[in-house]
Amino acid sequence: MKYISTRGQVEPITLKDAVMMGLANDGGLLVPQSIPDVSSRLDDWRKLGYAEIAFEVIRLFATDIPDGDLRELISGTYGDAKIFNPSPAPVTAVGDMFFLELWHGPTMSFKDIALQLLGRFFERILSASGGEKRLNILGATSGDTGSAAICGVRGRGGIDIFMMHPAGRISEIQHRQMTTVPDANVHNIAIEGSFDDCQQIMKSLAGDLQFKRACSLGAVNSVNFARVMAQIVYYFSGSFEVRKTTGAESVRVCVPTGNFGDILAGWYAMKMGAPISKLILATNENDILSRFFNTGEYSIGQVHQTPAPAMDIQVASNFERYLYYRTGCDCSALCDMMKELADTGALRVELDRDGVVDPDIEAGSANREDIFAAIRECYERYGYLIDPHTACGLAVANSPAHAGEEPTLCISTAHPAKFPDAILAATGRDVAHHPAIDALKDLPTRCEVLPNDTGAVRDFILRTVG
Ligand SMILES: *Cc1c(COP(=O)(O)O)cnc(C)c1O
Repeated sequence: MKYISTRGQVEPITLKDAVMMGLANDGGLLVPQSIPDVSSRLDDWRKLGYAEIAFEVIRLFATDIPDGDLRELISGTYGDAKIFNPSPAPVTAVGDMFFLELWHGPTMSFKDIALQLLGRFFERILSASGGEKRLNILGATSGDTGSAAICGVRGRGGIDIFMMHPAGRISEIQHRQMTTVPDANVHNIAIEGSFDDCQQIMKSLAGDLQFKRACSLGAVNSVNFARVMAQIVYYFSGSFEVRKTTGAESVRVCVPTGNFGDILAGWYAMKMGAPISKLILATNENDILSRFFNTGEYSIGQVHQTPAPAMDIQVASNFERYLYYRTGCDCSALCDMMKELADTGALRVELDRDGVVDPDIEAGSANREDIFAAIRECYERYGYLIDPHTACGLAVANSPAHAGEEPTLCISTAHPAKFPDAILAATGRDVAHHPAIDALKDLPTRCEVLPNDTGAVRDFILRTVG
């Protein structure tokens, strides 16, 4: 399998090279040249455990990594109960809803699932170069990518990580999870701006090819295709599990979305043949994506701060991959669309004959009250606590507009203990705790505060790597 850019200016490259390149060198996003069809293999895959499904899925995309190496990397990541406890993606039934719990990893959000693997990929690729290659990862985080990426690469040889977050706009716990990590290869940067500003700085530095090459700049955001690839796996395991319990032929999957990364993985799984009949996209009040899937218009507005901060995003970086497929993989049509978006802050697509944007994707949004009500009701009726992002999904999945016959699997993206303020506001009780998070309270923190300025970040990186 080779990888090409959505903008058409990158010669086909291997997965390893795509992993190292991160953002495509022409400013686009790397995508696989084709989407494998696995529908004839589902009956066999249903019998497999998570690590085995991961191996089967990932080997289709990582054809340049020998099976033996890949199996070892994958079982070392997903088969180790010290990393994912008890397993990476268990399903829990709550009332008539199913939750795919993706927060059993070390930093307790779904980001661990891809980033634990990506950290090992980087290390493997760098050590194969005999210590010749180095990597400086530059990332932007709305909260959870940061801690998961840092945890995935801390202490690994040949790698430094520079992680930007919007100063004062991530939760105190998310801040502690990143800034208490003592390893010398970890550098936290608080940017005086929004997450979109951080993402913009990252994009402009990664777009400066001379700087990118000089600093061996790499990416851990979901612009890195390896992230999306690793996330495809749990859409298979999760839909198999619900089918096993209910006997339903297929399931609907509800995905809370910010950067369109997680749901894009679901979309790939669906195209590959996973038994998913529909994706239900859920946003918070930053509803650019849900407006798009309801009207065909994508128009960038102001960022609102919500109780689900990992989704306080206006410019969804992965959306470009979706648009690329929508144009029928026509790079020049995609470039026109991206230019229109850059020039006017908006773009439009045609609706189909039934007046919908995409028959595979329904969308809705949840405001602050909806989120709190979903947390409260789930807790009071079932004693099951969900985090505010998952609650966003549940609120949308439960709304009459998205009622359906088939069972619904809600992607549960974080442990509620990461967002104790939202839980307190919703339930009136301080019930969201986890010993690993409570233990961070007294540790020393390290963080550099920088202005919202690409040059300042560039200088900081150059100063640090010497
Ligand atoms: C990152 C994140 C999301 C959004 O995921 P995307 O891939 O950006 O759509 C949702 N919930 C939590 C807890 C997250 O950390």
